[in-house]
Amino acid sequence: MGTPLAPLTTFQLGGPCRELIQCADPDSLRTAVSALLRAGTPYVLIGGGSNLLIADEGVDAVVVRYFSEEPAVTVKDGAVEVSGATILDQFVRATIEAGWDGVIMCSGIPGTVGGAIVGNAGAFGKQIGDVLESVELMDANGNVYRLPAGDLDLGYRRSRLQVSGEVVLSARLRLPAGDMNAMRRKREEILALRRAKHPDWRTEPCIGSIFRNVEPTSSAGRRQAAGWFLEEAGVKELRVGGAFVYPKHANIIIKGEEGTAEDVYELARRMARAVRDRFGFDLVREVRFLGRFHAAGDAPTTRFF
Ligand SMILES: Cc1cc2nc3c(=O)[nH]c(=O)nc-3n(C[C@H](O)[C@H](O)[C@H](O)COP(=O)(O)OP(=O)(O)OC[C@H]3O[C@@H](n4cnc5c(N)ncnc54)[C@H](O)[C@@H]3O)c2cc1C
Repeated sequence: MGTPLAPLTTFQLGGPCRELIQCADPDSLRTAVSALLRAGTPYVLIGGGSNLLIADEGVDAVVVRYFSEEPAVTVKDGAVEVSGATILDQFVRATIEAGWDGVIMCSGIPGTVGGAIVGNAGAFGKQIGDVLESVELMDANGNVYRLPAGDLDLGYRRSRLQVSGEVVLSARLRLPAGDMNAMRRKREEILALRRAKHPDWRTEPCIGSIFRNVEPTSSAGRRQAAGWFLEEAGVKELRVGGAFVYPKHANIIIKGEEGTAEDVYELARRMARAVRDRFGFDLVREVRFLGRFHAAGDAPTTRFF
C-alpha cells in the first residue's frame, strides 16, 4: 500500500511511495540518508512538493521528506544560516523581522529553502542564488561538506544540484541590513501581486509555472515569458480530463476535483507541442516529474518530449 504522497504536494496529486521518512533538521536527515545508503535502499528526496508532479501510480522507492514547520535561522559571523528544511516564505518573514534585506522577492513562493536553492528560485529578475554565500551538502556516499555558492553552477532556475543528487542540509546567506518598515511594505506589495496573478495553491492546487521563461538568443536579448508564447499558441483553450490551463496565466495548470497527474502530464505535453507548432522551438520544463507517466500512445515513461 505505502504512504500517499498527494497531501505532501501543492498539486495534491500522486500515488503512494514504498515508505515515507520525515526529517525536520540536518542531523535527522543525515542519519536517515546514511542508514538508507548503508542498506543500499534507493530513495527520493522531496521538500515542500511545490515543483513536483508525482505519477498517479506513485513512486516505487523510499521518499525522504526534508521539511519543517519550525524555521531554523541563526546569525553567525555576520551571515544568516538557515536549514534546508525551513519553509522559504517563513525564512523571508524571519529575515525581514530581523532587519535583513535580500530575499524579499521570494515572498509567497511555496516550498523549502533547500528546494529553492536547488532550482535557484526567485521572481522579479532576482533569485536566491544572488545572495547565497555557501551551502552544506551531503553527497550520494553520505559525505558532508560545505561549498561556496560559486561552485553550484547557479543560473536561471538552474543549479548543478539538479543533476548531482547532492542534498542541501543548510545554507549561509550574506544579507545586507534593510529598513524594516520599507521591507514589510515591499513584502505586502509582492504578496498582493502574486494573489492577483497566481492561483492560491491551498484552494486551487497547482505547481506554479510549468515551463521556464525563454532564454534570449543573443546576449543583447532579454528573457521572454513562456506564458506569452503559450498564450499566442492558444493553449488557454486546452483541457485534458480534469486539468486546465489557468485562465489568468497560460504557463500554469490547475486541476478540478477529478484531475489526475496523467491529465496534467498530457496537458503539459500538448502545451509544449502547441508552442513548437506555432513558433518552431521547444519550451524547457521547469517542474520535475517523479514516477512513470503513460501519455497517449507512448510507452510508459518519465521522459517528457
Ligand atoms: C503557486 C506557486 C507559485 C510559484 N511561484 C514560483 C516563483 O515565483 N518562482 C520560483 O522560482 N518558483 C515558483 N514556484 C515553484 C516552487 O515553489 C519552487 O520551485 C520551490 O523552490 C520548490 O521547492 P520545494 O521545497 O517545494 O521543492 P520540491 O518540489 O519538494 O522538490 C523540487 C526538487 O528539488 C529537490 N529538493 C528539494 N529539497 C531539496 C534539498 N534540501 N536538497 C536537495 N534537493 C532538494 C527535489 O529532489 C526535487 O527534485 C511556485 C510554485 C507554486 C505552487
